[in-house]
Amino acid sequence: MANSTPRQTSADVVIVGGGNAAFCAALSARESGASVIVLERSPIEEAGGNSRFTAGAIRCVYDSVDDLRRLMPDLSDEEVEKTDFGTYSEDQFFDDMGRVTEYRCDPDLVEILVRQSRETMLWLRNKGVRFQPIWGRQAFEVDGRFKFWGGLTVEAWGGGPGLVDALTETARKIDISIRYDTRALSLLTDASGVQGVRVRHAGERYDIEADAVVLASGGFEANREWRTRYLGPGWDLAKVRGSRFNTGDGLRMAMEIDAAPYGHWSGCHAVGWDLNAPEFGDLAIGDAFQKHSYPFSIMLNADGERFVDEGADFRNYTYAKYGAVILRQPGQFAWQIFDAKVTHLQRDEYRIRQVTKVSANTLEELVTKLEGVDAERALETINAYNASIKTGVDFNPNVKDGRCTTALSPPKSNWANTIDEPPFDAFAVTCGVTFTFGGLRIDGDGRVLDNDLSPISNLYAAGELVGGLFYFNYPGGTGLMAGAVFGKLAGASAGRHTGG
Ligand SMILES: Cc1cc2nc3c(=O)[nH]c(=O)nc-3n(C[C@H](O)[C@H](O)[C@H](O)COP(=O)(O)OP(=O)(O)OC[C@H]3O[C@@H](n4cnc5c(N)ncnc54)[C@H](O)[C@@H]3O)c2cc1C
Repeated sequence: MANSTPRQTSADVVIVGGGNAAFCAALSARESGASVIVLERSPIEEAGGNSRFTAGAIRCVYDSVDDLRRLMPDLSDEEVEKTDFGTYSEDQFFDDMGRVTEYRCDPDLVEILVRQSRETMLWLRNKGVRFQPIWGRQAFEVDGRFKFWGGLTVEAWGGGPGLVDALTETARKIDISIRYDTRALSLLTDASGVQGVRVRHAGERYDIEADAVVLASGGFEANREWRTRYLGPGWDLAKVRGSRFNTGDGLRMAMEIDAAPYGHWSGCHAVGWDLNAPEFGDLAIGDAFQKHSYPFSIMLNADGERFVDEGADFRNYTYAKYGAVILRQPGQFAWQIFDAKVTHLQRDEYRIRQVTKVSANTLEELVTKLEGVDAERALETINAYNASIKTGVDFNPNVKDGRCTTALSPPKSNWANTIDEPPFDAFAVTCGVTFTFGGLRIDGDGRVLDNDLSPISNLYAAGELVGGLFYFNYPGGTGLMAGAVFGKLAGASAGRHTGG
């Protein structure tokens, strides 16, 4: 059935979306012999959804360095020698998902995610995606050796752009038709289920018939009105970290035909993001507006107060929920304060040109430069923090070192260093929303369920628009893994269903 003319109006499987989950579904459906059309709403220059904006960090199970070597055969003996990769077992992944989501995550979905992560990574490699260890961001060098600390060890070669380009190239090679600038508007249905998709391209509407449709069009983070409606007041003021095209179309289209909403509809992934970043993500900057070295800083709000435990856990387990905490501060901003002792621990994103930063050689001068902040109170807060630190405990960024504050509210539980060595730097952040947690309900084959919890014939879903995995928080690197695992699964089910 497949051909690559721009007006082909039928295929075995139509995939809505052009990010990681969509391409995994497309490749997997094609693997089963189905003809596949991918619909990407954005123009080609902005294609790839949030997946393109990522660093490509991807959380997966490995029990030994041998597992990693299978995935990254280029790893040299010397690199292995100088690195403590540790392990990331299925049990650790289960524990992380349970703990950060306050044990709300759907156990059946998590089981699929965790148990299929390792083989899905090898499948991605076979599909042309290459990987490398994330030495810079996820392991610090202490005494000449790197140690990975946060269960997140692997990234796609070339980051998010590399991942999307590799998947796109493979899709093209195996005759998957990719339609850019083509927005899915609604699902075509009859008594026997979903029969295709109505789309709009260049102002014109047309229908594409399909035996199966996979929705992989992301969440509703770029829809200001839905953010306010579902996440709550104030969320209209957040900046969007990634694609401007994820406005909840797939969710709406599915719910219009009675798909069941599922998961944490009032929850989202949101981080500290440069105060002066643009309204939506900028592909030239990628994820670098984020400011994720805050565990080595203290954060002050407009009142000059600390408001969160910056060192409660490793960055991977706190960053996704601290955006919401920043949004709740007066004026929706905060300043991260560092001294010279920890400058070398700052991630690359602190050194980009488009950064809202002030510096000073004394704390007295620094606080006057923190725009919008009560300077007098800020100085008192920094001094009180400095006086509260248990300096007898050694500082170690690779472990939760227990170097904490005493009798301070809120506490700083790890990595508490005095702020007393000039020059002092401060970075202004606001809330940047990454993706929304609420989604559709699927079964173990990736089929979308209706409100009676019966499968809607011929309809599948994957990626950000699947609900039930994330509540309140999120372990870094899980979005891409979930997109790959559930994309592969949904694509295979859709392909099988068409008998392709
Ligand atoms: C700045 C940033 C950094 C991140 N870093 C990481 C990281 O390092 N590791 C990680 O695991 N996760 C990361 N994430 C989260 C990650 O991006 C997502 O979890 C993941 O990419 C979701 O994949 P997806 O395919 O479901 O959605 P997306 O990649 O967002 O794809 C959705 C696609 O649907 C298209 N679309 C929307 N509506 C329509 C329509 N009506 N018709 C047709 N197409 C439509 C969009 O254009 C887009 O192509 C990051 C996110 C951001 C924003």
